[in-house]
Amino acid sequence: MLAYTYIEKGQFRLLDKPVPRLQQPTDALVCVTLGSICTSDLHIKHGSVPRAVPGITVGHEMVGVVEEVGAEVTTVKPGDRVAVNVETFCGHCFFCRHGYVNNCTDPDGGWALGCRIDGGQAEYVRVPHADQGLSRIPEGVSDEQALFVGDILATGFWAARISEITEEDTVLIIGAGPTGVCTLLCVQLKHPKRIMVCEKSEERADFIRSHYPEVLVVRPEDCVDFVRKHSDHGGADVVLEVAGGEDTFRLAWQCARPNAIVTIVAMYDRPQVLPLPDMYGKNLTFKTGGVDGCDCDEILRLIAEGRIDTTPLITHRFPLARIEEAYHVFEHRLDGVIKVAVTQ
Ligand SMILES: [Zn+2]
Ligand SMILES: [Zn+2]
Repeated sequence: MLAYTYIEKGQFRLLDKPVPRLQQPTDALVCVTLGSICTSDLHIKHGSVPRAVPGITVGHEMVGVVEEVGAEVTTVKPGDRVAVNVETFCGHCFFCRHGYVNNCTDPDGGWALGCRIDGGQAEYVRVPHADQGLSRIPEGVSDEQALFVGDILATGFWAARISEITEEDTVLIIGAGPTGVCTLLCVQLKHPKRIMVCEKSEERADFIRSHYPEVLVVRPEDCVDFVRKHSDHGGADVVLEVAGGEDTFRLAWQCARPNAIVTIVAMYDRPQVLPLPDMYGKNLTFKTGGVDGCDCDEILRLIAEGRIDTTPLITHRFPLARIEEAYHVFEHRLDGVIKVAVTQ
């Protein structure tokens, strides 16, 4: 089968590999029907994910059809359409029992697919802990509608959940990339009083303006003043930092009102400064880390009810055989690309 493979730093290649086999009774084999490319794939390509193992098939955003299940798999069966979770997790260790599945202590726990073990930019993928890592796609929900459930949409949902948003709040989201938009959609489910999005790319700012006209959009250089002017208590009640840019961490805490919650979703290339003397007395609460992708069934239900729609993010479609081109377009942000769907 075709499998897009991490060869070495700077190089991915489409190889012919054998179809994976079940290794554990808790595994499932999934025939991938639609996949995508994530910024994290680019991080692997550029060597900034030290855990990534050369030789693995990359890709951790996909949906498909269950082909085969191990003897201990109970929640899915061959023929089921499923969304694959970026995180595989055991479901019974201390962290899993508390919903912190990103920190699952199992050897295959956390982000393994397409990083430490073979992922889904391929025709088939083996999914460990299939009872936890696969969610059945409800009737009437298409592959394109479900494509981002297991990764960037799970991230947005998790970020909105931990940010303790109320209906009185003014919420600032920094960054309108694919994960920023997913975060916006999940923040909207909390019905805050006001939502602002800070984005430096004019193309992406326009995307927000045209699809979500009720959202206020601002450029980074105007952000501090704009947020102060448009919030009730001198700053945003909740800030979600999804950009991971040069100055966006600083911007996040600067735009927050005293006693605000600042949730850091972004992955940074380098350490950030937490200048405690400058923020003394501001009494901020910071929440950080990677997604706990344990709400995929609920997210799929919301999609089925028409309350979340990420399909406008899919701007380009390529078959797996042309995945090189898909990466080129995605990596260099050509032609207004937001997300690429990889078909079989
Ligand atoms: Zn990802
Ligand atoms: Zn676990």
